Amino acid sequence: MTLFQKIIDKEIPADIIFEDDLSLVFKDINPQAPVHLLIIPKKPMVKVSDASEEDKELLGHLMWVAGEVARQIGVEDTFRLVVNNGAKAGQSVFHVHIHLLSGRPFSWPPG
Ligand code: 5GP
Repeated sequence: MTLFQKIIDKEIPADIIFEDDLSLVFKDINPQAPVHLLIIPKKPMVKVSDASEEDKELLGHLMWVAGEVARQIGVEDTFRLVVNNGAKAGQSVFHVHIHLLSGRPFSWPPG
């Protein structure tokens, strides 16, 4: 079981700022920007490349949640979404999550 499953199950605490039947949004414990949120599906999914066709709506829902939460906290004009897929791309928790970063300038290309 991953750490994020324990957060979904409320077995370990997190600073949750949005929740619906399909998703959960909480603050990253080690923020890389003044705003650093994690948007996760409640359905266990290891990584984006493991998603099946039946997950298309859920993955789209997570993107909608990103925009909705950004609007709610007033950062809708400037934020970055990041998904690390696989250990070599920086994924360390193997439950799909979208990072939402805001509150500082961002450079391109990303590191
Ligand atoms: P990844 O490296 O897999 O893309 O992102 C995992 C993220 O989860 C990291 O940014 C890390 O700081 C965050 N994280 C790891 N453990 C915890 C935890 O127990 N609580 C919270 N809120 N975030 C965590």
